[in-house]
Amino acid sequence: IRMELIKAEKLTLVSELAASVAHEVRNPLTVVRGFVQLIGSSTDNNITQKREYMNLVLAELDRAQSIITDYLGLASQQFISKEKIDLTETLDEIRTLMISYANFKTVTLTCDLESPLYVLGDQAKLKQVFINLIKNAIEAVPNMDGNVTIRAYVSYEIVRVKISDNGVGMSTEQIARLGEPYYSLKENGTGLGLTVTYSILKNHGGSIRYKSEPNKGTIAIVSLPTYFANDKYGDDV
Ligand code: ADP
Ligand code: MG
Repeated sequence: IRMELIKAEKLTLVSELAASVAHEVRNPLTVVRGFVQLIGSSTDNNITQKREYMNLVLAELDRAQSIITDYLGLASQQFISKEKIDLTETLDEIRTLMISYANFKTVTLTCDLESPLYVLGDQAKLKQVFINLIKNAIEAVPNMDGNVTIRAYVSYEIVRVKISDNGVGMSTEQIARLGEPYYSLKENGTGLGLTVTYSILKNHGGSIRYKSEPNKGTIAIVSLPTYFANDKYGDDV
């Protein structure tokens, strides 16, 4: 009976979230619909105005897309696969992915990775964790002289990944709210990125800690258990 109860609770949670995400996505879609209608029905040929509408449409579509992407990470938490992962390789792939985003924001991305760094878990999900954290770091820094550094090493059988930025920073009150669904101080933020990140790390037996100072910068420190080849579940993963 207890198992059934837990299952039912999880279903409620997922469907509640789905309902709230559907609500969040409906807003941008309504805006898009309105502007497309406006462009279609306009009789004058004011190209500048039409471009402006088109840009609003694109921005709203992007917003709908990021809400859906962030939510899907949250919804598929139950299906976690476990494999041996070299986190150094994963982080290196992410660096390649994020470098164009960093360049676009004129931010310098620096990596200092120990190799190898083995952990047990779901590679796609862990990728999402670090993409979310690095994206937040890049988005936090001013356009000029932005620096984001990724350091990864093993210490006392714990793999640690430190993501530092010299961005806007956070107060203690702000840090306390991180991970809360829809908590965002960004104009186009979803506030789902860290909710997903926290949940994935928890499922991997990991954790995250923040050190930050307003106007100085932020360090996000991720901890994950090191994977040993002779671990109890080791040989057949
Ligand atoms: P989003 O990025 O969509 O706003 P997140 O869940 O990723 O949502 O982050 C929530 C909020 O946490 C951000 O809006 C921002 O205010 C704050 N935050 C996260 N990372 C940093 C950082 N490195 N520096 C400053 N603020 C941050
Ligand atoms: Mg984010």
